Amino acid sequence: MDKVRRGLKRLKIEALLVSNPSNIFYLSGFYGQDSILLVTPDENYIITDFRFEQEAKKHALGFEIILGPGNLYQKTARLIKRLSLKRLGFESGHLTVEREDSLTSLIAGKLLPVSGLIENLRVIKYPDEIEAIKTSACITKKVLKRIIKEVKNGRTEKDIAAKIDFLLKKEGADSSSFDTIVASGENASMPHARPQKRRIRSGDVVVLDFGARCDGYSSDLTRTLFVGRISPYLYIAYSIVAAAQKRAISRIKPGVKISEIDGAARDYITKKGFGNYFGHATGHSVGIDVHELPSINSKNRTMLKAGMVFTVEPGIYMSGIGGVRIEDMVLVTKNGYEILTR
Ligand code: ZN
Ligand code: ZN
Repeated sequence: MDKVRRGLKRLKIEALLVSNPSNIFYLSGFYGQDSILLVTPDENYIITDFRFEQEAKKHALGFEIILGPGNLYQKTARLIKRLSLKRLGFESGHLTVEREDSLTSLIAGKLLPVSGLIENLRVIKYPDEIEAIKTSACITKKVLKRIIKEVKNGRTEKDIAAKIDFLLKKEGADSSSFDTIVASGENASMPHARPQKRRIRSGDVVVLDFGARCDGYSSDLTRTLFVGRISPYLYIAYSIVAAAQKRAISRIKPGVKISEIDGAARDYITKKGFGNYFGHATGHSVGIDVHELPSINSKNRTMLKAGMVFTVEPGIYMSGIGGVRIEDMVLVTKNGYEILTR
């Protein structure tokens, strides 16, 4: 909270309305939809309703919980009036224009857009956050081990996806961290394919991409499996992607630019003649959300710092043939890196 308050001073605002549930969780330990967190120079408030009252009281220690009559914005406006706040920041990346309008109409003070203040604090993970991420990654690894033998002739993509989601919960996840991807055969050429009724058959490549969410923290893992004999193109693509990923990971240590990590994977794939088939960033940070800042892309000049957690997931996607992606989560340590999904 001290860091948030320093941010408020820097931005010359009295208080901040936080509406992104992931940011509310980060600051308070309470994950409530339809709630607002208010940080003032001296106090912390959670504005919510009876559905979340018990959760908020249990987790958001050191916060005054505001319930009361009216909708979320009426309650917020009353609190702002009570505290006589005049210059308020709001999360422009999260509050919709419609909601901003309804709040503006209710309060006398000025609403000023703030973007990325909390998201940037979330970039470097605290030790307890790293522990939660490791737990979540560990569940994902266990599910992978169990699902591999299910990927065989005759099973549909939907069958496999349902089993993954079941196993994630059975192994202790609260939920999956995003919609599970199972893409077989030519479907594997779509990086974000949705599982279909397509049956897996011999000669298929099968891309599995899934993750657990546990104690508020996410994980993300991709493996590419082969069923029977596969086309030599895919075999070559797999070898290139595996080598590209290894090169990118081996460069990870504090002080290295993010663009260099992306470059290590991309330049290798390009040199091997598949550059046009790798159309997305090399990775993304992972924490409370499965996609967080910073993105691991070619334009990002940010330096790596110990405590960052992100994915390294190069891929090659060939329309009509199939695709390959290998994704691991990596923690930047003081001297290098630790792979969390090995
Ligand atoms: Zn993934
Ligand atoms: Zn990912």
